[in-house]
Amino acid sequence: MEPTLLEEEGGEAVTPASRGDPHALLAQLAAELDEVEAALRRLDEGTYGRCEACGGPVPPEHLRSWPTARRCPSCP
Ligand SMILES: [Zn+2]
Repeated sequence: MEPTLLEEEGGEAVTPASRGDPHALLAQLAAELDEVEAALRRLDEGTYGRCEACGGPVPPEHLRSWPTARRCPSCP
């Protein structure tokens, strides 16, 4: 019986922040925040859930997936 004393742990190189630089991430978050604030403004104005392009209603299931959607799925 041979005891394996040193078993290599993992072996995978852990690279923190390998997803890109924090500035890009923060810029993306700021853009998303803008969208959220715009959606809240539309909620106040009573235009939330209305397509910006055709003026038609944005389906609720679409809003569930994209709560900040400005347009209905048929408008590009
Ligand atoms: Zn539309």
